[in-house]
Amino acid sequence: MKKIAIIGAGFSGLGLCYYLLQRGGSVTLFDGKGIGGGASGIASGLLHPYPGESARLSWMGKEGMEATKSLLKLVGPDVYKETGILKVAVTPKQENAFRKLEKRSDDIEWWDAKRCHAFIKGSHYLPGIFIKSGITVHAPLYLKGLWRVCETLGTILEKRNVVLSDLQGFDEVVIAAGGGIRDFAAGKKFDLKFNKGQILVCEKPSYFESESSLIGKGYLALSEKDDQCFLGSTYERDYVTEEPCMGTATDLIYKQIGQFLPYYSPFKPLKCLSEMRVVNPDGKRPIVEKLEKGLHIMTGMGSRGLLYHAYFGKRLAEAIL
Ligand SMILES: Cc1cc2nc3c(=O)[nH]c(=O)nc-3n(C[C@H](O)[C@H](O)[C@H](O)COP(=O)(O)OP(=O)(O)OC[C@H]3O[C@@H](n4cnc5c(N)ncnc54)[C@H](O)[C@@H]3O)c2cc1C
Repeated sequence: MKKIAIIGAGFSGLGLCYYLLQRGGSVTLFDGKGIGGGASGIASGLLHPYPGESARLSWMGKEGMEATKSLLKLVGPDVYKETGILKVAVTPKQENAFRKLEKRSDDIEWWDAKRCHAFIKGSHYLPGIFIKSGITVHAPLYLKGLWRVCETLGTILEKRNVVLSDLQGFDEVVIAAGGGIRDFAAGKKFDLKFNKGQILVCEKPSYFESESSLIGKGYLALSEKDDQCFLGSTYERDYVTEEPCMGTATDLIYKQIGQFLPYYSPFKPLKCLSEMRVVNPDGKRPIVEKLEKGLHIMTGMGSRGLLYHAYFGKRLAEAIL
């Protein structure tokens, strides 16, 4: 049986781990911070294939949704809400793009401003699209659940930081280290970009009764706790520290969500969380490939870790075993 080491127990490492186990691999996970210690553990949980201002369908978006949905189902119904996502148009350009998209996709419904406002009481009068397939994933619960599945199938977790020379007894090593890729020479090959992302954990205002998350410029994502929500997020290229910074986060996030929600009074921030996103500069695709004999990389998930981890985890597992 092949002995495989995975560096990183976030979405990428755990998704891959599950599919390697399915194919009969013997897997050890290494993570210095434990399960979901990186960006995956603080992800807001928005899962849909129409990112960005123009909401264009992501590359391999449908395949990604299907693969992630099967892992979510495996973990169980408590870790996600399959209740759609409303994406409002905050600019005329966006409105145009959304109208075109609605004509091309059965998954999208065009909602006029009145309907959006009725759905999210207190929101500004803006039209939008309702993404029927949209899911809100409770990331920490999902990660814990997926870890339990992998553990039951025989994986071991070693809670420590590793370098490649520590792993010489393994037949195959996969670097799925999120922002930790900066410590590996192998990552230099890809000219990866890194940005700091912060979210605010807030008390959910009483007017927000919707069962769906809401995206505009920035977003409000549902939490597994009924009285809380997440407001996000920042994309900071210039930052003084990678640690959470409540002042910068509130400034940047409130400016965005103020374009579609009355942010000024009802949101009480409880906590600010921050982590690094790893972005593949040559577009919106992750990097999942063999570097040399016995060494692989799974990185560059950007803001789409939930969309891509299961699909590419499965593909990489097939390539390794
Ligand atoms: C604020 C914010 C909000 C986000 N919201 C969403 C969202 O709503 N939907 C979505 O799809 N994506 C979202 N993302 C993006 C998503 O979080 C990432 O795409 C995803 O987490 C990347 O997963 P990963 O497993 O590749 O990396 P990570 O989750 O960062 O995991 C890497 C792991 O490797 C470990 N590690 C690093 N170096 C070493 C080492 N040398 N030895 C051992 N362990 C090591 C770390 O401790 C970490 O646990 C968000 C990101 C941020 C920052």
